[in-house]
Amino acid sequence: MGRVSRATKQKQSMAGAVESQRAFFTAAQLHKMVSDEIGIATVYRYLKDEAKRGRLHAYSCGKSTIYSTTKSAHCHFLCTRCKRVEHIAIEEAHFLKSVRAGTVCHFQIDVHGICNACLRAQGASIVHPHAQRKTC
Ligand SMILES: [Zn+2]
Ligand SMILES: [Zn+2]
Ligand SMILES: [Zn+2]
Repeated sequence: MGRVSRATKQKQSMAGAVESQRAFFTAAQLHKMVSDEIGIATVYRYLKDEAKRGRLHAYSCGKSTIYSTTKSAHCHFLCTRCKRVEHIAIEEAHFLKSVRAGTVCHFQIDVHGICNACLRAQGASIVHPHAQRKTC
């Protein structure tokens, strides 16, 4: 009995912390907001469970899993050249309306390409040979 009520109390504490989140959060961040007697493993398990039940959206961000109650999209731009990862906003994904497999809850998109910084660097190195050719 005592153990059950303690588990319930812990769940309520975690649920309260989750409710106050307005953006993406990790298990570690949530762990800091709940009572000291709740171990990080309990927080991990709780979040995983909540996501499985569809009460939280879960995304992978680098090596960690991030969660959100409100954000239904998480998108990265990954530069294939410098390996930089940038978070990008994809507000409207009209193409998802035509997904025929079922109703969309949330989505994650990883866009691979060459970032602006690399493009600028590339542009500079392309300009040089051209300029040299012209003077020859
Ligand atoms: Zn979802
Ligand atoms: Zn991310
Ligand atoms: Zn780059």
